[in-house]
Amino acid sequence: FTGQITLDGPSGTGKSSVARGVAARLGAAYLDTGAMYRAATVAVLDAGVGLDDEIAVARAVTGARIEVGTDAGTEVVRVDGVDVAERIRGAEVTRAVSPVSAVPAVRRHLVAQQRDLVAEADAVVVEGRDIGTVVLPDATLKIYLTAAPEVRAQRRAGQLGVTDPDKIAALAQDLRRRDEYDSSRADSPLRPAADAVVVDSTDLDQQGVVARIVELAAS
Ligand code: C5P
Repeated sequence: FTGQITLDGPSGTGKSSVARGVAARLGAAYLDTGAMYRAATVAVLDAGVGLDDEIAVARAVTGARIEVGTDAGTEVVRVDGVDVAERIRGAEVTRAVSPVSAVPAVRRHLVAQQRDLVAEADAVVVEGRDIGTVVLPDATLKIYLTAAPEVRAQRRAGQLGVTDPDKIAALAQDLRRRDEYDSSRADSPLRPAADAVVVDSTDLDQQGVVARIVELAAS
């Protein structure tokens, strides 16, 4: 396979594992754009600016050196040279990432960086929300991954090792809140591209989804 595969969809659909799996199977590079928005959020939190101060938020992001690796096998995420791969998955960053990624100047900055990063690759899988619609409108294959909200909350709980039903309900609530926030914006990224193939992972395991996408990439 040569070309670009975009993998968009809401959180909790197993998108990251699927994207890594597809990249590994195809020997392609991999870019997690969510990790870039999360790294940008670290820069904002460390700058100590208010999340509602769009100008200060944009300045904190454009002034930071955000590095995200493109190797499917190893996760590299740095802000100004500091490894933040673990920190970006924490609650503090997860809570703040939606408002940061809603700032237009932040999106413009990161989208330009995303295009530069994939320009060098012969084959690449790019994961996010707006990749097929905005970042790479001419991609070879566009996938939009969905799953029922209850299934998404269960999966997220499994990843985090959470078994308490109240906590699982809270996770479902957090997923819904982020979906609503992400899709309520004027330039909502949470919508499939017109030419995307919608893959519903509710009744498929990760291997099944990877196999389906690899099959689509071959045809
Ligand atoms: O995929 P992940 O959960 O890591 O994404 C974190 C957040 O980053 C999303 O909730 C969304 O607000 C934002 N995001 C975005 N555009 C992308 C990728 C992520 O706005 N392409």
